[in-house]
Parts: sequence; structure tokens; C-alpha cells
Amino acid sequence: MSEGAKVEAGQVGGAATPFEVAVVGAGAAGLAAALAVAREGIPTALVGRHAPVADGRTVALLDGSVRFLEALGAWEAVAPHASPLCELQIVDDTGSLFRPPPARFRAAEIGLDAFGWNVESARLVESLRARARAQDNLTLVEADAAGAVPGEATARIALADGAAVEARLVVAADGARSPLRTASGVRVRDWTYPQSAITTILAHARPHRDVSTEFHTRSGPFTLVPLPGGHRSSLVWVTGEGAARRLAALDDAALGQAVERQARAMLGAMRVDGPRGLVPMRGLAVTRPVANRLVLIGEAAHVFPPIGAQGLNLGLRDAATLRDTLLVAARDRRDPGSRPVLDTYARARRVDTAARTAAVDLLNRSLLTGLLPVDALRGLGLLAMTQLGPLRRLVMREGVLPRLGAPELMRAAR
Ligand SMILES: Cc1cc2nc3c(=O)[nH]c(=O)nc-3n(C[C@H](O)[C@H](O)[C@H](O)COP(=O)(O)OP(=O)(O)OC[C@H]3O[C@@H](n4cnc5c(N)ncnc54)[C@H](O)[C@@H]3O)c2cc1C
Repeated sequence: MSEGAKVEAGQVGGAATPFEVAVVGAGAAGLAAALAVAREGIPTALVGRHAPVADGRTVALLDGSVRFLEALGAWEAVAPHASPLCELQIVDDTGSLFRPPPARFRAAEIGLDAFGWNVESARLVESLRARARAQDNLTLVEADAAGAVPGEATARIALADGAAVEARLVVAADGARSPLRTASGVRVRDWTYPQSAITTILAHARPHRDVSTEFHTRSGPFTLVPLPGGHRSSLVWVTGEGAARRLAALDDAALGQAVERQARAMLGAMRVDGPRGLVPMRGLAVTRPVANRLVLIGEAAHVFPPIGAQGLNLGLRDAATLRDTLLVAARDRRDPGSRPVLDTYARARRVDTAARTAAVDLLNRSLLTGLLPVDALRGLGLLAMTQLGPLRRLVMREGVLPRLGAPELMRAAR
């Protein structure tokens, strides 16, 4: 059951010394959190089966996230397969009367080689998993959690196979439908959008020149993000649910042509060159990402549509902030699952999470409304960002990493 080399603390299947921390969910956020905490010498368990999904999905990892992954030792294996995002281009393709000209942002303007790097999600998870296998103080438990019950001094995680893990703090990184979040009674606000996203990878005739392009259409953003080699990009095409279903039913040749048309042939002829996915668009926010001996991170704590490459970057900031919080608690010999420690974490994540969720929601809804005053405001906002140097640089910097409260491993110089 355990694929970790050794069990430093706790026991799977019976009573024993509890782990300090048990992370549930072996996606990117859970793996990063478990690694970040364990490498500080804190006995940690990671509960969850390795379940990568091949749906052609990539993640654009912003500069701070890459620093964090470097610190965890998980970037080296990913780097040769990552494409730098040196320029971001936003094209208003709504057909609105108040359509601003295309906006272009260059990483060099804020002293960076790249805003971030784009990599296939499955490859990132694979690299984190490989690191986790070799990490001291980290025990991998290859089973799903059936539930977690908080007690006086520890929480007990029941496993699907009948065994159990005890820990002073449970970290729910079990994704958007988080069973642990549901069982905890944390207050949730969730909503849906009348949209789905088609994801795949495309080969194209013209080079992308490390430019990521987001077309804002009336039915959602249509984004092409560079992949290595110059002639491959990943696609996230957010559109109406019916249109998305129709696109998903097309054969590869027809889908390639549809993407080429939607991209205004910007990258020349397109050919589908990877697996595909179809993801319904939804949103979710929690009042507070903590409960009794429980912290929620990643999509267990926040979900929003894929606009501006924010979702996993936010999840990695959760993981890196949790590491900072638990490191201070360990130095002060405090219980990691105690109320003051949980409150410190919740406070540290409040503004970043609320601001990103609101900004993405607002932009997405403003595209869908079709109201002229809303179009005018969106157009003016983009125009101001393009024309006003200080605002432009502020938006770029904050988009990459919030300056206030950035976690330690994201700040450190590379
Ligand atoms: C189309 C699309 C494009 C995106 N592009 C970007 C991008 O460019 N940049 C970016 O930053 N973000 C992007 N995102 C968001 C990003 O993909 C997510 O934020 C991220 O994958 C969420 O990671 P996670 O670890 O929180 O959750 P998940 O990846 O969902 O992982 C949760 C894990 O928990 C496991 N689990 C569930 N239940 C249990 C249980 N009971 N016991 C144990 N384990 C359990 C699951 O099997 C899974 O392994 C995109 C999202 C979409 C939909």
C-alpha cells in the first residue's frame, strides 16, 4: 500500500504515533504541499492514488510557481519540456463597438525572461510524484480517503481499503469536488457558467515565437499557449456548452480547421496533435479554507474558469504559504492543527484567493453579457493597461506574483 521508502511516523492500519500532517489528494497542489512540508523535517503522509488524466491539458506556470518547483527539486525534469511565455497578447474578438486594439505585454518590461512556462499537466504531476517517492519524512499511501474525523489531539483519516492514518493536521487537496470539504461542513458558494472548455494540443505551420494569445470572444476566451519546438501550442477554447459538444464531436481534421478559423489563421494550418478534453465551466469559493484540524488547498478551496493562467498558480501559492505557516508553528513547537495556526493560514490566503476569483469571474461574465456599457468598461480597462506604463507594469507584476505576502520559496532568487 505504501510506496514510500520508510514510515517515519504514524502507521497505516492501526494506532501509532500520528503524523504531524497528512495531505489528501495527489494532484499537483497536494504533491507540492506534501513535498514542501516534509522537506522541512515535518513528518508527513500523502494519501491518494496516482491518477493522471491524459486530456491534452497544460498549465502555464508563472515565475513564482517555477521558483517554488525548483526549490522542491521538481522543476529540473520538467524544464526541457516547458515553453517560455515571453509575451502575452490579448485580442478583443467580441465584435463590440468598444473593441480596443490588441494588447501586448512583454516579460522583459518587468525584468523577467518570461512570465512563466507552459508544460503538460500530466508531466508536472509525474515529476512531483518522482520527487515525493525520494523525499525523507514523506510517506506515500496509495489509497483514497473515505473520510476524516477530527478529534481532540489528532484527526483520523479512514482509507477506502479499511486502514486509517492519524495526523494532527489534515490538508484537503482532493480537488474541485473535495469529499473532505463536503464532510467538513465548510461553507461553500458554488456556481456554473453556460460554457465548457475544449482542450487539446495542436501542431501549426507558423512559429508561435513564445507568444501566448488569448482571444476574448462573446462565448468566452479562446487561448493558444506555446509548447516547446516553436510549432506546437496547447488550446483552451471556452465556448457555449452546445458549441463545445459539437466541437468535441468533430474528427481531428475538422477540429484542426475550426481552431485555425477561430485563431484567424494566426499560426497557419493547424493539426490536432494530442489527446482532447471537455471540461464544464464552474466556480467555487469557500468562506474560510479551514475547519477543525483541516486546511483546504488548491481546487478544494477555489475553482474558476481557465482565464489568465491563474488556477494552479493560486493552488501552488496555497501550498507554499502552508509550508511557511507550518514551519513557523514547528519552530515554536505549536500544534499544526490548532486554531491559531489555522487562522494564520486562512488570513494569509484571503486576499489573493478572493481577488483572483473575482477578477476571473468578472472578466468571463463581462464577455457573456453583450451589454454595451460593460463592453465599454472592459475595453477601457484593457486600453488603460496598454497605454499607462506604471499601471501596465503593476498589472504584469501582480499577475505573475502578488507582491504583498508572497510565500518565501516563491520569492527566493533563482
Ligand atoms: C482547461 C483548463 C486549463 C487550465 N490551465 C491552467 C493554467 O494554464 N495555469 C494554471 O495555473 N491553472 C490552470 N488550470 C487550473 C488547474 O488545472 C487546476 O487548478 C489544477 O489542476 C488543480 O490542481 P489540484 O491539485 O488542486 O486538483 P486536482 O488536479 O483535481 O487533484 C486532486 C486530486 O485529489 C484526488 N482525490 C479526489 N478524491 C480523493 C480522495 N477521496 N482520496 C484521495 N485522493 C482523492 C484526485 O484523484 C486528484 O488526484 C486550468 C484548468 C482547466 C480546466
